Amino acid sequence: MQIRKEILVSGIVQGVGFRPYIHRLATDRSLVGTICNTSSGVTIEVQGPIQLVEDFLERLPADAPLLSRILDVSVREIPCNGDREFQILASSVGDSVFTLISPDVAVCGDCLRELFDPRDRRHLYPFINCTNCGPRFTIVRGIPYDRSRTSMAAFPLCDACRREYDDPRDRRFHAQPNACWKCGPQLVLWDARGRPIETSDPIQEAAQRLRLGKVVAVKGLGGFHLAVDATNPAAVELLRHRKHRVEKPFAVMVPDIETAEKLCEIDEAARAALTCLQRPIVLLPRSKDAKVAAAVAPGQHDLGIFLPYTPLHHLLFKAGEFSALVMTSGNLSEEPIAIDNREAAARLAGVADYFLVHNRDILLRCDDSVVRLAAGRLRQVRRSRGYVPAPVQLREETPPILAVGGELKNTICLTRGKLAFLSQHIGDLENLESYDFFREAAEHLSKILDISPKIIAHDLHPGYFSTTWALAQTGVRRVGVQHHHAHVASCMAENGIEGKVAGIVLDGTGYGTDGHIWGGEILVADYAGFERACHFSYVPMPGGAAAIHEPWRMAVSHLAQASGREFLEWDIPFVRGLDRAKTEVILQMIDRRINSPLTSSCGRLFDSVAAVIGIRGKVNYEGQSAIELEMLARSSSDAGAYPFDCRRGNAGWQIGTRSLFSAIVEDLARNVAPETIGRRFHNGLVESLSDVMCQIGRGSAIHRVCLSGGVFQNVLVLEGLVRRLQANGFEVFAHAEVPAGDGGLSLGQALVAAHA
Ligand code: ZN
Ligand code: ZN
Ligand code: FE
Repeated sequence: MQIRKEILVSGIVQGVGFRPYIHRLATDRSLVGTICNTSSGVTIEVQGPIQLVEDFLERLPADAPLLSRILDVSVREIPCNGDREFQILASSVGDSVFTLISPDVAVCGDCLRELFDPRDRRHLYPFINCTNCGPRFTIVRGIPYDRSRTSMAAFPLCDACRREYDDPRDRRFHAQPNACWKCGPQLVLWDARGRPIETSDPIQEAAQRLRLGKVVAVKGLGGFHLAVDATNPAAVELLRHRKHRVEKPFAVMVPDIETAEKLCEIDEAARAALTCLQRPIVLLPRSKDAKVAAAVAPGQHDLGIFLPYTPLHHLLFKAGEFSALVMTSGNLSEEPIAIDNREAAARLAGVADYFLVHNRDILLRCDDSVVRLAAGRLRQVRRSRGYVPAPVQLREETPPILAVGGELKNTICLTRGKLAFLSQHIGDLENLESYDFFREAAEHLSKILDISPKIIAHDLHPGYFSTTWALAQTGVRRVGVQHHHAHVASCMAENGIEGKVAGIVLDGTGYGTDGHIWGGEILVADYAGFERACHFSYVPMPGGAAAIHEPWRMAVSHLAQASGREFLEWDIPFVRGLDRAKTEVILQMIDRRINSPLTSSCGRLFDSVAAVIGIRGKVNYEGQSAIELEMLARSSSDAGAYPFDCRRGNAGWQIGTRSLFSAIVEDLARNVAPETIGRRFHNGLVESLSDVMCQIGRGSAIHRVCLSGGVFQNVLVLEGLVRRLQANGFEVFAHAEVPAGDGGLSLGQALVAAHA
């Protein structure tokens, strides 16, 4: 008995080898029918004996191509017809073409084998790719996704490449970036002033220079990297100096997983993270005898490592026999990553000694993604290359919304139907280059996703660039969203939750509805609104933003809050080391409320504790002292916990820090080890937050808790709170796919706006 079925498949099913796959699946079973790309995915019709059709349907999702992502499959029976074979039909290009563009992916095993096979026509060709691998998102100009709308349009296919491209049984069938030595992009090595160096082997030449300790800018998938030999201390120092990057750790690329195992402690989960298609930078505990220069990640217990993901990387490692290369974003500190050849040569003048460039344009910059493993899962720290623009699936339909994110670690988010598209990492909106990137990303993403926003969601902070930009847009509805409400909504959206939850939000800075700076909050919230059920007691931030860069100021503020001026007499190193005159100025500022906004920030509390313990009084990058405090605490297993002052008032719960600082100072005076103090602080924070959460839960019958905000990148806080809240009967949700920090903010803004 013959039957015929129509199967609609939606998701990432175009440009990833899906049609050849279906062709094979059908013809292997002698089924006849058709497949066609449509505006929402693919439409398949198969006809044949009932059992073979059933088998086809069963195998379809199970064996789907690596890069495809099936979001939905619907099947219905239709009348049989006289088809004699299985055919791939030409795409039906409708008015509303909506196909999901795949993220950029690491070179696949098949291509790698060909790359190093002397008999292959692409032997050592740095741009080898196929439908299972290679650039996508970063080379797309418009939709639908085909070669003429990518930066490969400049390279007409040669006959051999054309044959592969047209053959449904070929691995390169409709592989848009398909290319070879004859017809594709080529590499050139430039000197520091952007003049081509005469050579037949630019990779070999670049590798030699790296071996000599030079800085080479290497054009990658989503932008330029600055590369130096990570085992050469002088080269790493040189790069730090030239890049004006004082202490922020560099990521290190290693040639293979075996080398990675020599640098870091790698378990099964870490191995999976390092070798996954997206090839993110993975933050892992470094081995004691890791052979990289000290300046790669000064004072860090963790190392950010990743594996090669372009053919060019593989060739470079082979040519130079490097065991580790620093591969850091090709930019000056805090600017967006450079993508254009001439732009790179201009902006990186004085930083790079050489430029390894090619003529395949990067149309959209996209930094490397950063992940870590915590509480048993892979968690995004910076979600970018390899993950963008894969959507986050939502529970319900949303109108077209553009959410513009916050100020630091900015991302934007566009929604369409049940999908939310988070942008790549745009960065800190603090300079003109970043503003341009922000505008460019908003425009480009709307275009390639074919979304015209009806609503723009933004932060409440009037001074943010993203807010100002949003308010200047016309013809759309604008919705202001409180920062921490957005954090909670982001966590809810990622976990597919609806209804009321409690959100514990711990972060650095967010504009509150009372005009103060929030950052240590428990909100009882749904998408439509929130109530502030608890917050850390307000403390003045002497000098405002200056207190972020100079945590000793916050420490003085916290100590003054705890003891008035009495702390000046305390015999602890932090107080002894204070500059009395400067401290006096700070105390005056606090007393008279001059340029001293009030904050409930948990990030600032970490800064203060770190400063009082003596970790550091000044930071070189945001979050530095919090990271160092966590590192310190992780090396202790002390079970003690400092007390916090939890009180219930008219306006909900408040968590004060007077007892905390008294206890820290007592321990310091008793010469208790700093790691023990750090650990007791972490333990106390977790205990007091979960105690208050229990009280709130009892009063409100809320049993679900969402954890969000940048502080949840801290493994001790995350794992501690998850464990303790679960032990108290709460259902706990945290971030994984979406960053807990401000990189995930735009998703929450979009969801709140959808319900406003
Ligand atoms: Zn491939
Ligand atoms: Zn070719
Ligand atoms: Fe935040």
